[in-house]
Amino acid sequence: MSDVKGAKSRSVLISGASVAGPALAYWLDRYGFDVTVVERAPTIRSGGYPIDLRGTAIDVVERMGVLPELRSAHIDTRRLRFIDADGNAIATIMPEDLTGGATRRHVELPRGELTSVLYQLTRDRRVRYLFNDSIEALQDDGVGVEVRFRSGSEQRFDIVIGADGMHSNTRALAFGPEGPFSRYLGFCFNLFSLPNDAGFSHEAVIYAEPGRTAGVYAVGDSPTLLAFLNFATDEPPFHSNTDVDRQRQRTAEMFRHCGGISGRLVEAMQRADDLFFDTVSQIHMPRWSSGRVALIGDAAHAPSFLSGQGTSLALVGAYVLAGELATHTDPVDAFAAYERIARPFMEANQALALREGGSLLMPRTQEELDARNAALAAMMASGKAVAHAEHSSAAHNALNLPNYGHLVRE
Ligand SMILES: Cc1cc2nc3c(=O)[nH]c(=O)nc-3n(C[C@H](O)[C@H](O)[C@H](O)COP(=O)(O)OP(=O)(O)OC[C@H]3O[C@@H](n4cnc5c(N)ncnc54)[C@H](O)[C@@H]3O)c2cc1C
Repeated sequence: MSDVKGAKSRSVLISGASVAGPALAYWLDRYGFDVTVVERAPTIRSGGYPIDLRGTAIDVVERMGVLPELRSAHIDTRRLRFIDADGNAIATIMPEDLTGGATRRHVELPRGELTSVLYQLTRDRRVRYLFNDSIEALQDDGVGVEVRFRSGSEQRFDIVIGADGMHSNTRALAFGPEGPFSRYLGFCFNLFSLPNDAGFSHEAVIYAEPGRTAGVYAVGDSPTLLAFLNFATDEPPFHSNTDVDRQRQRTAEMFRHCGGISGRLVEAMQRADDLFFDTVSQIHMPRWSSGRVALIGDAAHAPSFLSGQGTSLALVGAYVLAGELATHTDPVDAFAAYERIARPFMEANQALALREGGSLLMPRTQEELDARNAALAAMMASGKAVAHAEHSSAAHNALNLPNYGHLVRE
């Protein structure tokens, strides 16, 4: 195998093996780089909530050759049912009427299915995975990066990429604490699972009061439902991010006077052993790289689930960064080109969460709730999607992918 262009930039360490990390590993391997991925968890994390691939990201997975496999895992959510306190439907709509995903340019699948497809694809190639480990220290000396792992081993890499999510460890080591880069959007979410006793199928059922939204998501005909209890709060309860008992307590307090299905969901939350609690926040950084260290995916530009675009952005960023690293001899030039190409796309999609995502999915006040109900009623009456769905589609497709096919080694 001949060297990639930029023979001095061949060994790459990627931190994080979820979506962005394995996607980047795949492309870098195809361009002839020597790739290692370090993941804190003992294995690829399976399960999880449904995620969406839309627009430009569909082009990426098509170029990776996995689109048919991902389509076969498509969840096919058929309706979003907004209910009142008695469980009666206020409105029932198609998901894409809210999000603007056109059927041929949209796949919705369980997050764990996507990560295992990406993992399999890279494991079958030459990518090395180090599970149960993490970067403890980085020293960039301008010609390479000395890395010390939590396991105690040390190794030198030409480039280090942080694909380790919204609370990125690589970002903390190379750019400093999260605070200045995190933009809190005013909500906390709490996800957990419970048995699907009521026979929900291919649908999400949503109940809202001002500042509180409770619901369940039936992935296909799964015997397990994903439930969420989301609430608005001006002050993010950062102290409870890692303390599960306080997370339960805080959520139960927020829903104490909330009606509808929330009572049953709070009870189920108290028994659940798979709580996933976090703030709804975005990451905004003035630059995505520092010397020989760069960030992709949520680590660089988390858009929050209100945009529904986190996974798509992770895939697109991985594709562009790999292509630019293969194009440029100097990684600093590659990082600059990656940012120049990808930033407008990432920012357009981050903006989707700020437009109407919050007030439609989680109305904060009675006025927002009334406006949401009026929008749903209008949609039902006209059969047309909400006004911002078209705008969302434009953002999902806002990047024409560069073609790096000539750089592929095999
Ligand atoms: C509740 C919720 C709902 C969502 N819904 C949607 C949706 O409907 N549609 C959509 O497109 N997106 C959705 N998202 C967003 C989506 O999950 C993310 O945007 C996407 O997974 C980003 O991928 P990533 O690879 O950048 O980061 P992540 O998926 O966050 O992966 C980071 C990886 O890094 C690992 N890691 C963390 N720290 C370390 C460390 N110190 N060392 C080594 N490894 C480490 C983690 O274990 C993980 O494997 C949702 C997110 C949440 C939280």
